[in-house]
Amino acid sequence: MLRSSRHRFAALAIFLVFMAYRSHAQRPSFSVGTAMANPGKKATGYLEVPAGVDSATKLPVVVINGAKPGPVLALVSGAHGTEYVSIVALEKLISLLDPSEISGTVILLPLVNVPSFEQKVPHVNPIDNKSMNRFYPGKADGTQTERVSLLITKEVVDRSDYLIDYHGGDLDESLRPYAYWAPTEKEAQDRISKEMVLAFGLDHIIIWRDRSTDLNATRYLDNTATARGKASIVVEAGYAGTVESDDVALLVNGTLSTMRSLKMLAGDPHPIENPVWLDRVVDVISDGSGIWYPLVKRGTYIQQGMKVGYVTDYFGKTIVEVRAPIGGVVLHVNAVPSLKRGDNIANIGVVASHAP
Ligand SMILES: [Zn+2]
Repeated sequence: MLRSSRHRFAALAIFLVFMAYRSHAQRPSFSVGTAMANPGKKATGYLEVPAGVDSATKLPVVVINGAKPGPVLALVSGAHGTEYVSIVALEKLISLLDPSEISGTVILLPLVNVPSFEQKVPHVNPIDNKSMNRFYPGKADGTQTERVSLLITKEVVDRSDYLIDYHGGDLDESLRPYAYWAPTEKEAQDRISKEMVLAFGLDHIIIWRDRSTDLNATRYLDNTATARGKASIVVEAGYAGTVESDDVALLVNGTLSTMRSLKMLAGDPHPIENPVWLDRVVDVISDGSGIWYPLVKRGTYIQQGMKVGYVTDYFGKTIVEVRAPIGGVVLHVNAVPSLKRGDNIANIGVVASHAP
């Protein structure tokens, strides 16, 4: 080897080491709770919620720090710990998402409401009997649900650029898959959130307008992100305790497609074309207590006035005939015979007259 080329080789080697150091230095590690991931790595840990007026708790958290720079996406599931499809879908994504292929960082909370999951209690956190998707942004001196909500607001929402909240039909809800899109009148943010919800690919999308913009009264997780300027969507699949593989696939594939639309994964997204847009959701509430007999299934399209089911007393006598207050699609219908006055029997989505 000639002397000059040896020098050139040495200079190149020093340059490459410098560049490697620089690129490493530019992409710092990312920590959420006790999960700390270096670039190109995945780490697991816990968000630890200290004891307050009630017991301490901890939530599993995964940080997937991509090899390449990019935005931060939060994926959150299990606020309702018996909406199993959403939880199982995020469990699949923990192993599927490869940090070497990702631009940016994914913060993944697969199970917010551990007591609900463990004790098989639908709708609420059994520790304080509160829904874990109604008390955002949370508070430090509140009950467990409020303390968890505050930690998620600070550690997850505030540090993300985008957020997807996953739900589904709970143990007593027979639900067809759908998504929520909540426009804010902020053009750039709405364009991104709309791209996200279309890329996710669920074929029914509820337009959720007029939500609180008061940062201290956002109530829902997605609205907590939206009000803080982060494009976010809600997706729902699965029903009544089942874990069907096609429902899980909807949420897994939808997430991958959304990450492609956000340029966090290579490849093209597969957006839904011409989804059914719903501009209103009407609750059907029970007028009486007794045994519920449905006459429609999840996803059925019904006309105003159509009988959707009836309620009998415990002697078999019909006490309430339930008719559709409006025409639309049955988003979910009560899946079990138990019913008491004031319970939600069904939600009917009203088809929008035109796409937004
Ligand atoms: Zn839910």
